[in-house]
Amino acid sequence: MRILTGKTALVTGGSRGIGRGIAERLARDGALVGVHYGSGEAAALETVAAIRANGGRAFPVGCELGVPGDAGTLYGAFDAGMRDEDAEPGLDILVNNAAVSGSGRVDDIAPDNFDRLMAVNVKAPLFLVQQGLKRLRDGGRIINVSSVVVKHAFPESVTYAMTKGALETMTLTLAKGLGARGITVNAVAPGFVATDMNMRRRQTAEARSALAAHSVFNRVGRPADIADVVAFLASDDSRWITGQCIDVSGGTGL
Ligand code: NDP
Repeated sequence: MRILTGKTALVTGGSRGIGRGIAERLARDGALVGVHYGSGEAAALETVAAIRANGGRAFPVGCELGVPGDAGTLYGAFDAGMRDEDAEPGLDILVNNAAVSGSGRVDDIAPDNFDRLMAVNVKAPLFLVQQGLKRLRDGGRIINVSSVVVKHAFPESVTYAMTKGALETMTLTLAKGLGARGITVNAVAPGFVATDMNMRRRQTAEARSALAAHSVFNRVGRPADIADVVAFLASDDSRWITGQCIDVSGGTGL
């Protein structure tokens, strides 16, 4: 039996990038995984197909985040997917991974863009937790995907960094509030990872090697580098850790 057999996970933004790596890893550990996506259904279906081809269980969960009523819409799709899978209602592992970046320097921040980043990166995870609590079983796991930008200043990403700071504060605060139910709440803070978020705007070899140079290992991170730590936080092995943010950046900023 695998370590997450019998558990159910929901990974927001599980269709691509780091989220896909997390969804695949949790499924490999035996969890039934809701693979959430916003507009890219094809990528979600591809991820679900890859998990199934590998002997795992997964289903797609479509819902745009950052719009009014998003959490309720998402759980409606999640519950429908669970019924299709003939799974017991309930949730054991919630991974708040979906986010948008690209906020700019302080002079460039537009109020609309600020509101959007806050809505997707902060408000959506908070209300996904709030509405997830009645599904989340005691002893469950909430794992938030933050970023090294909270601890290391990147002046070109002011709003984005602020959203991740808020997510880490949410992690700390909820951890104390949910301890009585045995639910742990932790975060991971990746450095630069090879996903669309980074690579689309860095097409040259120079730009990519500058990104790699942030890590003491002189490479850009892979989704699996993050997923393996999330899998640890999702497992029983992490039961005595809560309210923490684990740096998974390959030594960025050392
Ligand atoms: P990607 O841009 O590669 O993927 C983003 C995922 O989130 C997609 O599945 C996307 O779905 C979903 N998503 C984004 N916006 C929305 C929305 N408004 N509504 C619904 N779904 C949405 O991101 P990464 O994999 O790079 O990043 C994942 C997490 O890791 C984020 O929290 C990011 O901040 C964090 N991170 C990333 C780093 C990196 O270097 N890549 C570094 C540090 C942290 P769809 O395609 O359907 O819109």
